[in-house]
Amino acid sequence: MNKDWWESPEFLHPGHAFCAGCGFIIAFRHILKVLGADTIVAITAGCLGTNSGFLPSSPIKVAGYNTPFASVAAAATGIRAALDARGNSLTQVIAVAGDGGTYDIGLQALSAAAERNENFIYLCYDNEGYMNTGVQRSSATPLGAWTTTTPEGKAGPKKDLPAIMMAHRIPYFATLTPAFPEDFLAKARQAEAIKGMRFLQLLSPCPPGWGIPSQATVKLARLAVQTRVFPLYEVYDGKRIILNLEPEKVPVKDYLRAQTRFRTLSDEEMEHVQKEVDFHWAELKARADWFASKADDAAL
Ligand code: SF4
Repeated sequence: MNKDWWESPEFLHPGHAFCAGCGFIIAFRHILKVLGADTIVAITAGCLGTNSGFLPSSPIKVAGYNTPFASVAAAATGIRAALDARGNSLTQVIAVAGDGGTYDIGLQALSAAAERNENFIYLCYDNEGYMNTGVQRSSATPLGAWTTTTPEGKAGPKKDLPAIMMAHRIPYFATLTPAFPEDFLAKARQAEAIKGMRFLQLLSPCPPGWGIPSQATVKLARLAVQTRVFPLYEVYDGKRIILNLEPEKVPVKDYLRAQTRFRTLSDEEMEHVQKEVDFHWAELKARADWFASKADDAAL
């Protein structure tokens, strides 16, 4: 990112109360810089809700609207409708929720808004657990991860939210992390430019929840991509998939062993996770390659 970017206006106050090394707040700072001052943020319960809800110490410089846990997508829908009724099509509306407010508690409102193709950006900061209330499992918690409610490691796999969002055929879906800033900014700008429902899936390393040092956030986000645990890709209209990066394969165990939440996983279980990751990567790549081969077919 160039000098002009760093000197462009900031919409977060310094000195916020997020944990040192929080992956989400790095990303949120940059999303707000892309969207600018004319933005309204719908916020649900979670780390952002806790840290932004208390005036005069809220770190957010743009307008914010705190909603009940289940309804951030419904609130964003209403904000957009009110702006449209006043003839204001310029103000950007962004709904922001963690994985708890997205995969679990807010899924009904999200699905309804996606099915109607409501015109706002939805940012899910996926830290793979209910971190704000002391690290409980969510349906985004991956197989084998320690949480206070899965002390021997989570038994089942992570819910496949990208597949759920693709099934809604929304105009734009993208995965992003704080570790690849150019990719991140390109997707934030693309989301800003498109109309209709845009969904940004942010992998958000969480030092206390993942058992990593505060300074390891970007390294873990990068490892997630390099190991293909968290591929970087975009999906247009729920169909056309573009793989943004095809990294040389790094063993998944390098990512797992860097986090104490996976301390109970045996070598055999790590091998199982590797096979799952390989399967999903192959599936994603096959779809991306097929669409790349049909790039001239505007009907797709
Ligand atoms: S608990 Fe995790 S997600 Fe929440 S502010 Fe701290 S680092 Fe960020």
